[in-house]
Amino acid sequence: MKYLSTRGDPAPRGFSEILLEGLAPDGGLYLPQSYPLVDDATLSRWRALSYPELAFEILSLYIDDIPAADLHRLVHATYTEAVFGTREIVPLKSLEPLAPGLWLQALSNGPTLAFKDMAMQLLGALFEYELARRGETLNILGATSGDTGSAAEYAMRGKRGINVFMLSPHGRMSPFQQAQMFSLPDANIHNLSVQGVFDDCQDVVKAVSADLEFKRQWRIGTVNSINWARLLAQVVYYFAGYFQATTSNAQTVSFAVPSGNFGNVCAGHVARMMGLPIARLVVATNENDVLDEFFRTGAYRVRTGAQTVETSSPSMDISKASNFERFVFDLLGRDAARTAELFGPGLARRGGFVLEPAEFARVATFGFASGRSTHADRLATIRETWARCGAMVDTHTADGLKVAREHLQPGVPMIVMETALPAKFAQTLREALGREPERPAALADLEQRPRRCTVMPVDVQAVKDYIRTHG
Ligand SMILES: *Cc1c(COP(=O)(O)O)cnc(C)c1O
Repeated sequence: MKYLSTRGDPAPRGFSEILLEGLAPDGGLYLPQSYPLVDDATLSRWRALSYPELAFEILSLYIDDIPAADLHRLVHATYTEAVFGTREIVPLKSLEPLAPGLWLQALSNGPTLAFKDMAMQLLGALFEYELARRGETLNILGATSGDTGSAAEYAMRGKRGINVFMLSPHGRMSPFQQAQMFSLPDANIHNLSVQGVFDDCQDVVKAVSADLEFKRQWRIGTVNSINWARLLAQVVYYFAGYFQATTSNAQTVSFAVPSGNFGNVCAGHVARMMGLPIARLVVATNENDVLDEFFRTGAYRVRTGAQTVETSSPSMDISKASNFERFVFDLLGRDAARTAELFGPGLARRGGFVLEPAEFARVATFGFASGRSTHADRLATIRETWARCGAMVDTHTADGLKVAREHLQPGVPMIVMETALPAKFAQTLREALGREPERPAALADLEQRPRRCTVMPVDVQAVKDYIRTHG
């Protein structure tokens, strides 16, 4: 399998070539040249597989430059009961009291209690493998407001040849998220607590990466959500969810996905393009509803930082959706010139784009639907789910569940993606239920553990110096 850029760069690349990269050289995103089609017989065979076996089968369709035995070993070492809590890895829980055929798919039982572990844990294994194969090392530099940074640190901790330098806004993450990141004892994990807001952190990362000489000399890399390997790892759990909710390949299911950067639901789109019988992909947003607006109107109006509001589902607080270009490329029949015209330089200055009516009409044929949820909806959904199902859902999952219920179809199971556990967002859970959210027993003493983090000003030079000393 070779990979191309959504903006037309003609050089075909192998999986291992794009694994450690971000954007394509022309600014586009990488996608496979085609989606392998999964026929009925294959679907039937896959039904019986364990999660790691299923992951190996799907990844093998897209990765032909890692020997099969090595890929098999990496996948099996990643998706274990020890790391993800159950043998099923992504079990379904019934929400029958709310609606017949309504399910919750558990994606958040990894080490950081959010679905990002599903992909990041595999990325850690793949990065370590590929760097060793090349005889190279990597300094991963990132900025986080919470979930991505912790998932990256837990995936890369102790990995040979890799250091992580993670910037976070000083004092602005939830107490749980701070404790989670800062308590990691591993020498290759560096928490830089920056005296500013998240945008300051991101600006520093951009400035360091823009110094090409520094970037090359210190082998700076990223693990952001546009990485194709992350998206690919997420395709697997759509298949796993489908198999659990159905008994025959003649049945269809829908998925409701709490969305921010469009990575998770884009993996659902890829699964559907491969032939998984998906009726609807329901995109759920919070008050930052740039994606809901697009799916209702065909207008993609990117917001500025000031127009992006802070909500109680903070991991969905986005101004533009960094993976969205992948879907639009497919929507436009893979017209790279038109995609480049829409997403190319100046997108933010132009404020976004509006699709032609004929282009927008295609959205329906791709199975997408959408909706938005507010703080009040979130609280009501958390309360109702607790009262009627005895299940606690986190704020992001509540957004997904609220919108899912607006798109139910008789006879079609609806699977809501559980993107985090409630323990991560205790404050809103207390507000909704007047009680503390449950927490996995292994994390009972999290806040008491010793912490490692270096506080620094918003200063590009200080971050570079820190990397020079510790990279
Ligand atoms: C990252 C995240 C999301 C958004 O996922 P995308 O792939 O960016 O759409 C939703 N919920 C939680 C809890 C997250 O951490």
